[in-house]
Amino acid sequence: MRLAAVSLAGVPGEVLQLLRFNFTNLELTTQRLKRQLGSRTDSDIRTEPAMKSLPFFCRGEVIRGFGRGSKELGIPTANFPDSVVDNLPADISTGIYYGWACVGNGDLHKMVMSIGWNPYYKNTKKSMETHVIHTFKEDFYGEILSVVMVGYIRPERSYDSLEALIAAINNDIEEAKVNLELPEHLKLREDNFFTSASTSSPATASTSQTIINGH
Ligand code: ADP
Ligand code: MG
Repeated sequence: MRLAAVSLAGVPGEVLQLLRFNFTNLELTTQRLKRQLGSRTDSDIRTEPAMKSLPFFCRGEVIRGFGRGSKELGIPTANFPDSVVDNLPADISTGIYYGWACVGNGDLHKMVMSIGWNPYYKNTKKSMETHVIHTFKEDFYGEILSVVMVGYIRPERSYDSLEALIAAINNDIEEAKVNLELPEHLKLREDNFFTSASTSSPATASTSQTIINGH
C-alpha cells in the first residue's frame, strides 16, 4: 500500500491518532456497505423499478389454478388468466404486492397478491394470484376480479416448511392491512375504476380485462 511508504516521522501524536481513527472508520463503513450490498438479492434489485408502475389497475375473470391447495392452507388465491398477466408492465417483477380488490360489483377489500412463475408453463410465464382479505361465503370462479396493486412487500422466497410459508403469508397480510391505511392508499378506494367495475359482467371479461392503467 502506498501509504506505508510515507514517512510519519515527526507527525504529532494526536494527528497520528486522528488518522488512525479515520482509517478505522473508513474500514468499518466499507465493511458495512459491502455487507448491505451483499445481502440484497437479485430480485430486490430487479424489483425496485416496479414502483414506477404502481399503482397498477387491472381486472379479469377468475380462473381455476392448479389446485396447489392454497384453500386448504386457509389462504385461497384467485388466479387471473394469461390475458391479464400478459398486460403486466415489464418492470413489475415477481414477489408479493398489496392493494385493493373487489369481486364483481361487491365491496372493496384489502388484498395481497403473489406474482410468481407459472409451473404450468415450466416457469417461463408469470402468474398473478390474489388473496382477498375477506371471508367469502362461496367460491367466485368466473367472476370479474378488479384489483389495484399499490405497494410491494417482498420478493418471492422458498420456505423450509409449510408452517414457515403460512407464517410469511400471514405477515404479508398484516403488513398489507397496516400499509393500506395510509391516506394515499385509502383514496384509491374512491377511484372510478372500482365504481365502473359494477358494470362489468363475466360476459364482458374479454374486453374488461384489458382495462388497465389509464382506465
Ligand atoms: P385455485 O388453484 O383454483 O386457484 P385455490 O385453493 O387457490 O384454488 O382457491 C382459489 C379460489 O377460492 C378462488 O378462485 C375463489 O373462487 C375462492 N376464494 C374464496 N375466498 C377467497 C379469498 N378470500 N381470496 C381469494 N379467493 C377466494
Ligand atoms: Mg389459487
